[in-house]
Amino acid sequence: MKKILVYKPVPDDVLAYLREHAEIVQIDAAQHDAFVAVLKEVDGAIGASVKITPAMLEGATKLKALSTISVGFDNFDVDDLTRRGIVLAHTPDVLTESTADTVFSLILASARRVVELADWVKAGKWQGSIDQAQFGVEVQGKTLGIVGLGRIGGAVARRAALGFNMKVLYTNRSPNSQAEQAYGARRVDLAELLATSDFVCLQVPLTSETHHLIGAAELRAMKKSAILINASRGPTVDEAALIEALRAGTIHAAGLDVFETEPLPADSPLLSMPNVVALPHIGSATEETRHAMALNAAENLVAALDGTLTRNVVNRDVLSK
Ligand code: NAP
Repeated sequence: MKKILVYKPVPDDVLAYLREHAEIVQIDAAQHDAFVAVLKEVDGAIGASVKITPAMLEGATKLKALSTISVGFDNFDVDDLTRRGIVLAHTPDVLTESTADTVFSLILASARRVVELADWVKAGKWQGSIDQAQFGVEVQGKTLGIVGLGRIGGAVARRAALGFNMKVLYTNRSPNSQAEQAYGARRVDLAELLATSDFVCLQVPLTSETHHLIGAAELRAMKKSAILINASRGPTVDEAALIEALRAGTIHAAGLDVFETEPLPADSPLLSMPNVVALPHIGSATEETRHAMALNAAENLVAALDGTLTRNVVNRDVLSK
């Protein structure tokens, strides 16, 4: 019987499904040495949020497939996995809508100061009718610049264009004609997007090209009234530069679901800034979506080990090996 390592808790029914197909070993990846030792004994592994380096895979000769319970795969060295003949599977699509909802929550919360003003009410500061000091800025009709208009960016564009009558700009290395037709999205270069957007929303994968894509110069290129939204990966933004820009009033506010270090350290200046909405990486975190992701990843892994997986494969080259 095949052996599978489960390194993140999954729902009971998903675990039962995996048990029907393989012997299961469960281990917390925080126990690093034991985790690496088990990788050498198993045919496949399923989990998330753990960096799996080439060094950790030395001697893992039985390992045929890794299945991440996420769409992002920046925790893996894909070329190295391909060289080793290890299939890497991920979970696109099932999390697109819930993540787009998180992005839109950040847009609305940052513009209308929802978190700041809710805290203000709870602190007993609402003692008369509100005045300009509590006003936010409008969302509807504004320009949304999406850096990385793929699956999630497209779902954000749909909310923006059809729900909020927003003008949508985007940058991608290749055009997204579906979003152009359906939502009037217009592809521009990053400089134009930064200079003209009221909301700049990052939805690119984290790669060597997108690391610190938004730094001090890009923040300076944005409108003073602009709001930066990041629900991609923390390192796509130079966080020190962002903190400086928020302090200096270079941009108006930020809505962040992801950070360079997670959990966000207690001494991060972002935590004391009223114009920052900070969420604990909840992009896809609904009961329904997290269940769907775990099941999808489990099915991906079982099919990969059977040699029948044809979709959700990051390194398709390995299938032809
Ligand atoms: P996707 O469909 O692959 O979309 C990514 C988009 O980024 C594509 O349109 C791609 O277009 C563009 N892109 C890639 N590299 C680029 C570059 N160097 N410059 C400009 N554009 C670039 O992926 P998705 O499903 O929407 O997910 C996107 C990312 O969201 C994931 O990789 C993950 O990191 C993040 N995410 C976060 C959460 C959360 O909890 N906060 C949840 C889910 C996903 P081109 O290839 O044409 O450039």
